[in-house]
Amino acid sequence: MKSVALLGATGSIGRQTLELLRQRRDRFRLVLLTGRTSGAELAAAASEFEVPCVQVEGEAGARAFRADPPPGTELLVGAGSLAGAIGRLAPDLVVNGITGSAGLPPTLAAIRAGADLALANKESLVMAGSLVRRELAQSGSRLLPVDSEHAAIHQCLKGEDPAAVRRIYLTASGGALRDLTPGEIARVGPERVLEHPTWSMGPRITVGSATMMNKAFEIIEAHWLFDLPADRIEVLLHRQSIVHSMVEFRDGNILAQLGVPDMKVPILAALGDGERLPYEAEPFDLAAFRELTFAAPDPERYPALALAYRVLAAGGDAGAVLNAADEVATEAFLAGRLPFPGIVDLVGRVLAEHEPVEPDSLDRVLAADAWARMRAERFLERA
Ligand code: NAD
Ligand code: MG
Repeated sequence: MKSVALLGATGSIGRQTLELLRQRRDRFRLVLLTGRTSGAELAAAASEFEVPCVQVEGEAGARAFRADPPPGTELLVGAGSLAGAIGRLAPDLVVNGITGSAGLPPTLAAIRAGADLALANKESLVMAGSLVRRELAQSGSRLLPVDSEHAAIHQCLKGEDPAAVRRIYLTASGGALRDLTPGEIARVGPERVLEHPTWSMGPRITVGSATMMNKAFEIIEAHWLFDLPADRIEVLLHRQSIVHSMVEFRDGNILAQLGVPDMKVPILAALGDGERLPYEAEPFDLAAFRELTFAAPDPERYPALALAYRVLAAGGDAGAVLNAADEVATEAFLAGRLPFPGIVDLVGRVLAEHEPVEPDSLDRVLAADAWARMRAERFLERA
């Protein structure tokens, strides 16, 4: 029986993880559920799975939880309580499905507690890849990628010599605006951007799919996960989201991982950690998928991709700046304060002002994050 802490249990990744765990109660025991606000949903899940501990970020969530509290579940309130809870409960596996920069402190707490980490929160690696790698080397815990592209590459690399990798190809659907003209893109509002063609996800990552900032993050994520230099990581437009990524080896062989676009497949692969647990995915209908197309992304249409390579070249805390500026810009777009093309433009401007330094601690990373938010807000005020 593996003990599991599920962080961000009320989100897209979190709910899908719960669905999988519901079918495998013989193998997994939930010891911690967390969320930001949805206290009632957390209370219901804690009651169903008999979870000893729930953590919510704020008072609103705590009030909703206390309205119908499951007997025998301890409630912790406030972001500061999470790291201690992970340390105390010492789960075998932490699934981090928190969105944004709030996912970084619990990533570090999980590693320090020696837990294996099924990581959906790519922001942890974008913000602080070098720090995460250093902590991993000291703790012996392992990173199990949940992001579909990285779960694909993880499988393609199994048993392979890392030195034999020539390059990897991250596939990208192109997001909600892929068929619009630049003129149309300049005028789209949040509703249109939130209609993703192939995946159903939280708002931040869905906007990031349209700007391709999500793919930019995935380039950086791949760099830290697989120890690959930037010039060995390429992006391919692949509209159907069937080939989840590919690895090309130096002998000319290319391995790809395919499947229907269903996040439960990579989540389960991370939960199984090498063991192929049974799951009835939607049937893979070759007739429906007989057309698989690939194309190089147009750098003018997707300027976010270049920012990933800029960040990797700059090094240090540039990733924390990239993430924070994008969080502010995405929220501003969703609130109607910024036109769609303004998101990547704003992030680029904040990065251009930044002088990278090597972040040797969480506090340093958070200082870069705070600086970038302040700069981004200043640009927004002037806009
Ligand atoms: P979501 O918005 O649906 O859910 C986010 C979860 O995090 C919720 O449970 C929410 O309560 C919690 N949360 C949000 N802000 C928080 C805060 N400040 N403190 C504590 N908890 C907070 O997001 P999602 O789509 O599930 O994405 C989660 C992560 O997984 C992101 O990093 C995303 O990039 C990554 N990811 C998601 C998908 C997907 O299909 N949804 C695919 C690949 C990677
Ligand atoms: Mg992905």
